Amino acid sequence: MKRTLLTPLALVAGLALVAPQVLPEYYVTLANYIGLYSLVALGMVLLTGIGGLTSFGQAAFVGIGAYATAVLSTSYGLSPWLGLLAGLLITGGIALLLGVLTLRLSGHYLPIGTLAWGLSLFYLFGNLPNLGGFGGISNLPNIALFGWTIDSSADFSLAIWALVAAAIWLIGNLLDSREGRAIRALKGGTVMAEAMGVNTARSKLAIFVVAALLAALSGWLYAHLQRFVNPTPFSITMGIEYLFMIVLGGAASLGGALFGAALVTVLKQWLQDLLPHVFGQGGNFETIFFGALIILCLQYARDGLWPLLAARLPQRRRAAAELEVPVEAAALPRREALPANQPLLQAEGLVKRFGGLVANNNMGLTVNSGEITALIGPNGAGKSTLFNLLTGLLPLTSGEIRFRGERIDGLSSRRIARLGVSRTFQHVRLLPQMSVLENVALGAHMRGESGLLCASLHLEREEEARLLAEAARQIERVGLKEHLFDAAGSLPLGKQRIVEIARALSSDPYLLLLDEPAAGLRHLEKQALAELLGKLREEGMGVLLVEHDMDFVMGMADQVVVMEFGQKLAEGLPQQIQDDPAVLAAYLGGVE
Ligand code: ADP
Ligand code: MG
Repeated sequence: MKRTLLTPLALVAGLALVAPQVLPEYYVTLANYIGLYSLVALGMVLLTGIGGLTSFGQAAFVGIGAYATAVLSTSYGLSPWLGLLAGLLITGGIALLLGVLTLRLSGHYLPIGTLAWGLSLFYLFGNLPNLGGFGGISNLPNIALFGWTIDSSADFSLAIWALVAAAIWLIGNLLDSREGRAIRALKGGTVMAEAMGVNTARSKLAIFVVAALLAALSGWLYAHLQRFVNPTPFSITMGIEYLFMIVLGGAASLGGALFGAALVTVLKQWLQDLLPHVFGQGGNFETIFFGALIILCLQYARDGLWPLLAARLPQRRRAAAELEVPVEAAALPRREALPANQPLLQAEGLVKRFGGLVANNNMGLTVNSGEITALIGPNGAGKSTLFNLLTGLLPLTSGEIRFRGERIDGLSSRRIARLGVSRTFQHVRLLPQMSVLENVALGAHMRGESGLLCASLHLEREEEARLLAEAARQIERVGLKEHLFDAAGSLPLGKQRIVEIARALSSDPYLLLLDEPAAGLRHLEKQALAELLGKLREEGMGVLLVEHDMDFVMGMADQVVVMEFGQKLAEGLPQQIQDDPAVLAAYLGGVE
């Protein structure tokens, strides 16, 4: 993160300080608009490129920022600073409301909600009697800051680009934190993040509100720069143009926001001058051009143009120190140890129907602390479904689940995770672009508590160091130390499963549920895994394990449960199971 942040920051600082002094007025003004659009685009990178949520309504948030200050400073004679405060409060309130209504629903609800909202607000701006109609409001006062009146283009340039730099710094800090990892995990779907204790609804709401506030800030500056507002720049067309900026620039990086804003602004200006000469008449020809450009971009540079450009820029070598994990950071507090061989998890009468298919039928099992329980059975027996029921990922049709004596059926997977249940997935759920270290640190999410503001200001560095150190320790423990900084997706599948174990261990669980952890491992790697599981058992952890390798299971398990057709076929000590005629017939028959 640090490295990717430096280039845009340096660019911004250079532009803000040098450009207004040496460039003609025309270019300074152009740069000011680029800065204003960049503020909006930065929020959208966080929201769309990184968080995976699409909004068409950002221009309307810009409009609220602009209109709030316009009305308050002209009709009521209030200071622009109060206008800013009002704009941010109104925008924040509306974004919260809109977010609460649409963000819990997956799919198209947010984009459609923002479209509806963007459209209606545009007409509201045009038709509310106090807002000056489509003619707008003029004669806005200047912004004054400690005696400095911001009125020339050069003044605005300084103010705008200082704010852009601040936004980059804050968002960069945020992304490089525990909360930021949770935000970056959103794109991979919410299942894994929730299972690691992340409140994904809250993370989504947070980035939606942050993006809206940045838009409102841009609107406030815009209004005072123009000293005039009317509805046109806040229409849905502009909302789409903001999306174009991040798609063209590169939606997943902060540099992409700046580059996209600059590209669209400069190209638009240039095309508006050029195209009427070419066609011999006026008209919004540049829109057609942008449409074509977007299609080309989606075809040939799906991640936008900035990543292509950035790859050609000279890269600063990462110093060894930056790749060092703060292992000396104090260890995180751990849960109190449990007595061994006590029931941890008790499930009874579990039924799960998928329509007509009964995937689990009157299934039950007990997992004790300090014991390894193996769950075996042919493919399709219902083992993974049982895991999903036990961890709250799927709702039960009926039945009862207790964890440490308390009912947990009906709780969300996040709540269950917080009680000390952690898991891996049969179909690996890692964030492939993120490093092994960051993936595993996500498992420690619940063990940190500093919030978004703290993270944005990087006031949580001590906690972050402890979280990363914990992740590094777990990675070392599972034997993947040499892959600490590799992208998780670059590892072979067997090792990715082990990364998932380290991630689960980072949450300091009482109970570990492993769905086929040894699949894809070589003999020596399996031995290492068996050793690790043995150590966890000694520490008092309860382990429930689905595995097909019978040698592995029978050598490891204290207790074996056999499933077939969603039901329990047998349970007992490994030796009893191996000799059980029903099991032999149904499951081991072909093997023995
Ligand atoms: P196992 O892990 O033992 O191989 P699963 O629990 O994955 O078995 O699957 C048990 C049965 O439930 C299978 O027939 C599977 O197709 C079905 N099943 C699993 N998940 C779903 C789902 N979300 N919707 C519908 N059917 C499902
Ligand atoms: Mg399965």
